[in-house]
Amino acid sequence: MAKLIVSDVDVKDKKVLVRVDFNVPIKDGVIGDDNRIVAALPTINYIIDNGGKAILLSHLGRIKSDADKKDLSLKPIADRLSELLKKPVTFVPENEGKEVEDAINNMQDGDVVVLENTRFQDIDNDFGKRESKNDPKLGEYWASLGDVYVNDAFGTAHRSHASNVGIAEAMKKAGKPAAAGFLMEKEIKFLGDAVANPVHPFVTILGGAKVSDKIDVITNLIPKSDHILIGGGMAYTFLAAQGHEIGKSLFEPDKVDLAKELLEKADGKIVLPVDNLAATEFSNDAARKVVGDDIPENMMGLDIGPKTVEKFKDILKDAKTVVWNGPMGAFEMPNFAEGTLEVGKALADLTDATTIIGGGDSTAAAKQLGIAPKITHISTGGGASLEYLEGKELPGIACISDK
Ligand code: ADP
Ligand code: MG
Repeated sequence: MAKLIVSDVDVKDKKVLVRVDFNVPIKDGVIGDDNRIVAALPTINYIIDNGGKAILLSHLGRIKSDADKKDLSLKPIADRLSELLKKPVTFVPENEGKEVEDAINNMQDGDVVVLENTRFQDIDNDFGKRESKNDPKLGEYWASLGDVYVNDAFGTAHRSHASNVGIAEAMKKAGKPAAAGFLMEKEIKFLGDAVANPVHPFVTILGGAKVSDKIDVITNLIPKSDHILIGGGMAYTFLAAQGHEIGKSLFEPDKVDLAKELLEKADGKIVLPVDNLAATEFSNDAARKVVGDDIPENMMGLDIGPKTVEKFKDILKDAKTVVWNGPMGAFEMPNFAEGTLEVGKALADLTDATTIIGGGDSTAAAKQLGIAPKITHISTGGGASLEYLEGKELPGIACISDK
């Protein structure tokens, strides 16, 4: 069933509790990358433009002791949000108690309040990690502060915390709506629906470091995909499973049998590299050469080779849906970024296809390579997008009201 979206709910004059993902890189109060704050703007703007009061909750980093609090306050983020919204934002240095309640009671329609880091609730109390272990009383308390709840934090959707699942359950119990924000809506549409019911041909591109990280993604996507292109470090365990020499390449001996099984199950759908860029060591300056699908004894495969790029491009040109997770090589080193770049370009060149990128490093690669604007959807979640691609039900999505 379709999920309730913030635009389905009347927010006028309402106190709207919004779980955003403001878990941005921050050091000494300086925000490294404000992408996640920018990504939350459509939902926040929608609420305030429609006469609602936006009360924002988010976690930031991990809080294990009082000492962690100083560097993980949401104050600098509230300041940045104020700049982006071009209007004042009230920051409350608590997320429970009188100061919070007073601030909310003082809100006018269109106002924005940011409460302190939800994970400050993970210490100094009888329950233990009230936020991260989902103390139902905390979810109930937060739910009591508002009329409508909106979950826009896809990045934590694979976790069952008080500020996403606890609060949503408490809202529903109280007969109040728990809706998805626009960012969450997009993730559901692309990573969820497009992958569950893809327009064919559906091509999955998998790469990255290890088979063991991606087993469930491969298993979930084999039956749905028409082709599965495998590159990156994980390709070598597959090549080894086919009896190839892989030299010093990344290798998981305990996954060889599984790789064989997957190759059999995929019945020809899995396409492995036919050539590779091999190097003497894991270093940008290492001596390198293009080799076939056998890697010399003293070398390691660090990127897919040019013939493989052509083969992958040829398959991609007819695709109508493409999901890409995991770089084709050690792309952080410029000398081994070519395969990832070329595959990325091939994706960017598809004009009549839905192209989706999920995974932390793949997203970083897409941005670094400058292809991001030409991709239909780049997921904002690392772990969450991976679990979604594994076909799992994410608790942070499951808890949202149905339409
Ligand atoms: P994502 O975060 O997109 O899911 P992963 O974390 O699975 O991707 O993989 C990214 C990492 O894989 C990068 O650090 C990259 O250097 C590494 N990698 C890719 N190809 C190779 C390779 N051939 N050998 C060693 N490491 C590789
Ligand atoms: Mg990663």
